[in-house]
Amino acid sequence: MTEKQLIITFDYELFLGSESGSVSLCQIIPTEELRQTLNRYGLKGIFFVDTTHLLRLRELKNDHPKVQEDWDMIGNQLAQLVEEGHYVYPHLHPHWLDAEYNPEANQWKLTNYQKYRFAKISDEERAYVFDQSVEVLKEMIPHADYRIEGYRAGGWCIQPFSDFLPFFQKHGIYGEFSVLKGRIAHTTTVDFDFSQVKENIYPFSEDVCTRDENGDFVELAISSVHIDATTRWKSKWLNRLLWRTKVGRSMGRGTGAVQKVLNPVPNPEYADKEMVSIELLNLYKLPLYRRFLSQNDYMHFISHPKMISKHNLAVFNRFLKEASEKYKLESDWKKISAKAVVNL
Ligand SMILES: [Zn+2]
Repeated sequence: MTEKQLIITFDYELFLGSESGSVSLCQIIPTEELRQTLNRYGLKGIFFVDTTHLLRLRELKNDHPKVQEDWDMIGNQLAQLVEEGHYVYPHLHPHWLDAEYNPEANQWKLTNYQKYRFAKISDEERAYVFDQSVEVLKEMIPHADYRIEGYRAGGWCIQPFSDFLPFFQKHGIYGEFSVLKGRIAHTTTVDFDFSQVKENIYPFSEDVCTRDENGDFVELAISSVHIDATTRWKSKWLNRLLWRTKVGRSMGRGTGAVQKVLNPVPNPEYADKEMVSIELLNLYKLPLYRRFLSQNDYMHFISHPKMISKHNLAVFNRFLKEASEKYKLESDWKKISAKAVVNL
């Protein structure tokens, strides 16, 4: 059986705009479904937890029983994931520092985007959010073997990497998961340029886009799939129809961060492509995902539990069932990295 490397990652977080949505609908319920799916096929998931949210929960939990409840639910779920062999790592959205809590709704308002990127906050704030992100996960997951060795930046904003380098070194993080191969974006909130990235896995030292054989870190780039015009059109109509039913709507409810595109840059490397993602997968795209896996030995999914619908999940299950019958699936990023990067 041919081996295929399948990296399955999740950004475990609330919505990041005017209405955060609830912890149970955006995180707990969809993640429970995903956990069962992964376990069914013996696959390891990587959960990038919005630790900046956890820092605010920690701050308010003694004053608000509902915040304490959210904290407990998240802690139990993360501990169970680690117990079962999945990976749990930090994911930072620093504008949580300015989030406003609404006790009546037990939700948050995150419309102040000034601190959206790590690059936009002060040195003191960086040290606080990064170091405490590691601390808060260790506090929530008291598992003896639990190690924090991977990271994904909020909104893919990992550049310049020099901002993160001291924290990777300090905490022993060596796996980097923020690069969306080929994509460029320059908006009021996010800023990144991965147009030079051609490889899936490579060692690096100072620049996440450049291979350096002597680097201490490994980049595991997120995959993107080409979607032809017909499939795009069919998907649009399918989504419209599905949205009217329960199975087609995302399990989480909330409002995302608002952003405007600044100086649109031509991005030929990424033309007609989209990230490989459970929430973007539907019945019409299934053949394209299938073909992608048959033509590539590496496929890296990025998904958000809050965005996933029952339809997405059903198609993902079908994709995994077929893939596991046809190939030997390797989903452990540490084994994949050790094989691809000899010096680690
Ligand atoms: Zn995120």
